[in-house]
Amino acid sequence: MVGSGPAGLTFARVLHRHDHPVTILERDPSPDARPPGGTLDLREGLGQLALRKAGLLAEFQALSRPEGQAMRILDADGTVLRDWPPRPDDRANPEIDRGQLRDLLRGPLDVQWGRAVTKVVPGTRDGVLVHFADGRQETFDLVIGADGAWSRVRPAVSSATPDYTGVTAVETSLDDVDTRHPDLARLVGDGSVAVYGVNRALVAQRNSGGHVKVYAQFRAPLDWHANLDLDDVEAVRSSLLALFDGWAAPVLDLLRHGTAFIHRPLYVLPVAHTWAHVPGVTLLGDAAHLMPPLGAGANLAMLEGAELAESIAAVTGPEDLDKAVRAFEEQMWTRAGRWAKITTAGLERLVSSDPAEALALFDDVQPS
Ligand SMILES: Cc1cc2nc3c(=O)[nH]c(=O)nc-3n(C[C@H](O)[C@H](O)[C@H](O)COP(=O)(O)OP(=O)(O)OC[C@H]3O[C@@H](n4cnc5c(N)ncnc54)[C@H](O)[C@@H]3O)c2cc1C
Repeated sequence: MVGSGPAGLTFARVLHRHDHPVTILERDPSPDARPPGGTLDLREGLGQLALRKAGLLAEFQALSRPEGQAMRILDADGTVLRDWPPRPDDRANPEIDRGQLRDLLRGPLDVQWGRAVTKVVPGTRDGVLVHFADGRQETFDLVIGADGAWSRVRPAVSSATPDYTGVTAVETSLDDVDTRHPDLARLVGDGSVAVYGVNRALVAQRNSGGHVKVYAQFRAPLDWHANLDLDDVEAVRSSLLALFDGWAAPVLDLLRHGTAFIHRPLYVLPVAHTWAHVPGVTLLGDAAHLMPPLGAGANLAMLEGAELAESIAAVTGPEDLDKAVRAFEEQMWTRAGRWAKITTAGLERLVSSDPAEALALFDDVQPS
């Protein structure tokens, strides 16, 4: 297994539950080498089903925030257009911090940190040859690439590379909102607040512990920052405030009080990304089907991890292993293709020249 994100860890945890050994190779030097990222909503039939297969659903329910399903939409003047508080018993998509999910999944697993894979060569006499950044090489029976958007395993099965969507996100965050920014805490509420304008959007999401992540999204060429130093916090802030000029002051305060800014141009793989099966190598999660971040990627990654692990655990011989992987790939492609279409169309409507499209999208998907 290459990668210890949601896909890799869920795969390894389910195999572990079936008493199967698995080697987890992770590029990061330690679990806390990078900030773990924002909150994830895990859906009943996807991410939560994967957690059930891992025997971790009850622990997830204890950690997750059903109140985080609250969603509010404002217009650029700050007028509330929609407000969807979750029903008290609604557990369809509760939120969990990515770091909490990672720790829950990792549990007893033994991750090999600092093992960046650079290349995978299938079909050698001893199996699948894996090259590492430190020059070492090892062979394995089966290599599973769960190494995300810029997968180094993917070239072993497919020549596809991610394309820029035309939409960029810049992420910032606020800490201790309830005490330091009570007005913003009220604006964000228990879940998310989103504001849609012409070809731009601002979305703020509450994480646990009074932490709020803010995403400024806008249509722009990839080199939009050619004259901007992305490491200069004040310069990025000014550039974003200029981009959202004229929006209501409380909404812009989300940018004014943001601490650091992280540049995230949104890339995707082709909607129907498939490949001719290569014995000994497969892909999971973003490595297989990178799509716009509209609440599906981690869910799919986890369910695929759980399903592949269950299939492998049921295998009795080497030829069955290859059959199981092939069957898994077919199932993954069908489901992921469906979600890639939905999320690609969703991004077109959420960051578009007509903000009414974003509202209409939410009206279609939110429970009335
Ligand atoms: C802002 C944002 C919000 C999102 N919100 C949601 C949401 O609410 N719900 C949802 O379902 N999805 C969401 N997503 C999508 C979700 O984050 C991804 O789809 C998900 O993380 C994919 O999991 P993964 O395990 O496939 O890949 P990743 O999470 O990218 O994990 C890949 C792992 O592989 C490691 N790795 C990479 N290269 C190598 C290498 N060469 N060698 C060894 N290890 C390597 C990485 O360090 C990492 O640990 C969001 C995405 C973004 C950007």
